[in-house]
Amino acid sequence: MTSCPRVRVGSALSRSGLPDLDYSLNPYVGCRHGCLYCYAREYVRYGEVVDRWGSLVLVKENLVELLDREARKLKPGVVGISTITDPYQPVEVGEKLTRKSIEVLLKRGFAVSIQTKSTLVLRDLDLLTSRREAVDVGFTIITADPSTSSLLEPGAPRPAQRAEALRTISSTGVKTWLFYGPVIPGLNDSAESFRGVLELVGNCVELVFVDKLRITPRVRISLSSALENFEKISSTVRDRYWWSRVVNSFSEVCAKLGVRCVASIAEPLAGGGRVLNLSSFRGKRLLNVERSSQG
Ligand code: SF4
Repeated sequence: MTSCPRVRVGSALSRSGLPDLDYSLNPYVGCRHGCLYCYAREYVRYGEVVDRWGSLVLVKENLVELLDREARKLKPGVVGISTITDPYQPVEVGEKLTRKSIEVLLKRGFAVSIQTKSTLVLRDLDLLTSRREAVDVGFTIITADPSTSSLLEPGAPRPAQRAEALRTISSTGVKTWLFYGPVIPGLNDSAESFRGVLELVGNCVELVFVDKLRITPRVRISLSSALENFEKISSTVRDRYWWSRVVNSFSEVCAKLGVRCVASIAEPLAGGGRVLNLSSFRGKRLLNVERSSQG
């Protein structure tokens, strides 16, 4: 049972710290999907939401009104929707804060970069296709295996449903991407697992982001109770050669399929080269928005 009380907030858009997003918009505080590996919790200031992650979600009741006011004054740019919550979690069915926010942003000349695990985004296809040049949609899928997904992402739609939604959106001409993360040692770090997810989405994406597990104190607590071999996972994640090997093997899979692969963490690769930071590709470059025009 999730409770969704209303709160009033002082602002709608935040300046984004990510290089390819100008702003971020989070319509809700907390996330019903309750993923055990979620490190967004570390950025939430409401202690009770953090403690009850997945079962308490705050609805920003004055968000759209504030956003309309802010969007009239601010220079248009790319808005990441969302960065620390899922914009299409169940509460959005009735509240429609995400839909109303996208309407305001597109009307005021902003572009939107949406990331979700929810098929509810399909409800807004009419809106997204009305300005498809200013929209991109990414789905997070970390495994093709429904039971692993149920364990780690208890409140989110299963991978096959997400993949189908991604294919549908891609077929409308809206730019789509896949977020394969977190990569967890022994769980989804093999080329077979990665290929399995790419096959599940029917190779409909041109771009895949790959991100490794980030073990924050709260992630440690939730994952260690779910995964028996957590201590081994924890030590492998600290091994940068493990990550280099993963990125190299995923890059080979992508090269064979003609998919662009971007991995997180600016770390040196074994044998030379560097892994790029994934944040530099979501948003502006995907939408071909000129940096210079966005200030
Ligand atoms: S969907 Fe995203 S924001 Fe929501 S719990 Fe999962 S990882 Fe966190």
